[in-house]
Amino acid sequence: MLEKQNYFEYSGIIHIHTKHSNDGSGGDFEQVKTALSKTNVDFCIITDHNSIEIKEFYGEQIYNNCTILIGEEITPPNKSHHLLALDITNKITATNNYQENIDNVNNQNGISVICHPNIKRTIFILRDLSWSDWNVNGFTGIELWSYMLDWTKELNIFNIWLYMLFPHWVVKEPDFDIVQRWEEINNSRKCPCFGCVDAHILKLVPFGFNKVFTYEFLFNTIRTNIITLKPLTNNIDDNKKIIYNALKEGVSFMINYEVCDKKGFRFFVECDGKLYTIGDTIELNSKTAIFTVQTPIVCEIRLLRNGENIASTFDNELDYICSLPGNYRVETIYSHRKWIITNFIYLR
Ligand SMILES: [Zn+2]
Ligand SMILES: [Zn+2]
Repeated sequence: MLEKQNYFEYSGIIHIHTKHSNDGSGGDFEQVKTALSKTNVDFCIITDHNSIEIKEFYGEQIYNNCTILIGEEITPPNKSHHLLALDITNKITATNNYQENIDNVNNQNGISVICHPNIKRTIFILRDLSWSDWNVNGFTGIELWSYMLDWTKELNIFNIWLYMLFPHWVVKEPDFDIVQRWEEINNSRKCPCFGCVDAHILKLVPFGFNKVFTYEFLFNTIRTNIITLKPLTNNIDDNKKIIYNALKEGVSFMINYEVCDKKGFRFFVECDGKLYTIGDTIELNSKTAIFTVQTPIVCEIRLLRNGENIASTFDNELDYICSLPGNYRVETIYSHRKWIITNFIYLR
C-alpha cells in the first residue's frame, strides 16, 4: 500500500500575461523570471492572448528550479468567452465559435480551461468577460478563482485606492454561482477547477499604488498546487508530463498564498486497503471509506459532500468515516478567509 509520505506537492502559478499579449498590459520574460526567483514557485504557465510567441523566443525551460511552461489564452475576435489552452504544441487561431476553440485544444490533446466565467462589464473592465454559453462540451476544467479579475469585480472610481492598498479585503472566495455550476458539472463527469492569477502588469499607476499590478505581488496570491507520485526533475519534458497530467486529472487544489503560504496540505481516502487522493474515483462496493485531511497549520477544515458541509473542525487534522457515494472535497478557512479549495474525490 502507498504511504502518505510518498506523495509530492508542487506549487504553480497559472495564467500569466507578458508583453506578447499585445494588449499593453504585460511585462517581459525577464520580469517574470525575476518575480519567480523571489516567490518560491515550482511551476508556472504563461498564457498570452492569442500568442505562443514567447515559446518561440525563449522556449519552455527550468529556471531556478521553476518549470516554465507556455500555453495560450484563446481570445475570440468578439473578445468574449476566453479559453486557456494548456499543453498545446501549436498556436490555436481564435474564432467566435467557442466549441470550435475547445475542440481545437482537444485535437492537440491539450487542456482547455474556461476563463473567468463570471466577470461582467464594469467601469474598468469595458467588456462582459463572462462565459455565458454553457451548451459547449468537452472542456477540461474551469478557472474557478482568478485573482486579478475577481479583484476588479466591484471596482469603481471611489474605492480603487482602497482596493489597491487592501486587495485582501476584496478577493475572499470564488464566485458562489460558478462554484455551484462546477459542482453540477462534476455530477456527470470530472471537471477540475483551476486557481489562477491572470497577471496583467501595468507600468504606469498613479502615485505608486501599483502592488496589485506587479508579478511579485500576484505570484503570492492564488495558486494551483498539484500532488504527484513522481518528483519533478531537471528534465523539462518529464516535468511537463508530470505537471500537465496532474492538472488534467484534477490531482490538485486551489490555494491562496496571500492567506498562508505553507505547503503540506493532504486529502486522502483509504478504502479496501488502498490509498486514494484528490482526483481519484473509488468504487465503494459496500465498503467503508476513511477520509483524512491534514493541514500544516491549525485552521478550520470543512469536508463537503455534493456541496453540503458534512464535517468540520478547527484543528490540523480531520478524520471521517463513511460509505455513501458522492463527490467529496475540502475547504479550509484561515484568518476568516478561504485558504484552500480542493478538487474532488469521487465515491461511486
Ligand atoms: Zn481573459
Ligand atoms: Zn488572461
